[in-house]
Amino acid sequence: MTFKSLGLREELLTAIQEQGYTTPSPIQEKAIPVVLEGKDVLASAQTGTGKTAGFTLPILHNLSQQEVKGKRAIRALILTPTRELASQVYDAVRTYGAHLNLKAAVIFGGVNQNPQVRTLNQGVDVLVATPGRLLDLHQQKHIKLGQVQTFVLDEADRMLDMGFLRDIERISNLIPKQKQTLLFSATFSKEIKKLANGILKHAVQVEA
Ligand code: AMP
Repeated sequence: MTFKSLGLREELLTAIQEQGYTTPSPIQEKAIPVVLEGKDVLASAQTGTGKTAGFTLPILHNLSQQEVKGKRAIRALILTPTRELASQVYDAVRTYGAHLNLKAAVIFGGVNQNPQVRTLNQGVDVLVATPGRLLDLHQQKHIKLGQVQTFVLDEADRMLDMGFLRDIERISNLIPKQKQTLLFSATFSKEIKKLANGILKHAVQVEA
């Protein structure tokens, strides 16, 4: 299996090559085709399996295939439990998207919001966020979620452990009903299954 045979566009293959990746990891082999098709995904994957590229690459592919007129709007929203993970995912989006005309931004709490607001105002295609700061800036009308097509919950089990269930539900309700949702989790507790049942539609299950 190669990244090319998964159907990823040339600009992404270049970025992958620049990272020195030769073959897709098991989670990437399984997740990338399903995400490219626009389907919902329930993925069990630990850190270190290559899960970030597993959702980032096909999301960037799909977004870059669309013709966009006018100002950029958030079309992919990736939620993570912590600022560290948010920063890592943001770095991955920037790295893999280096040869595409897409803008990414990251927002998280515990720091001044003004630089984040300025970045958002410049127009963003892919937003990586922690739940609290996202809701905060949304409430202040700095974020519009009406164009979001793909919603990712990364490390969903950790988000639940940190008490973000209500926030996740609130955010999910701010996004158009007709969207693609990807849920990544290392473990599958009763709570995760319940969350998945509530927000995923005909999800394809993939395992690393
Ligand atoms: P993740 O599980 O997403 O945190 O990724 C773990 C590490 O694996 C990251 O440092 C990636 O740069 C690296 N990685 C992701 N995909 C591949 C691949 N197909 N081949 C080699 N390394 C990879």
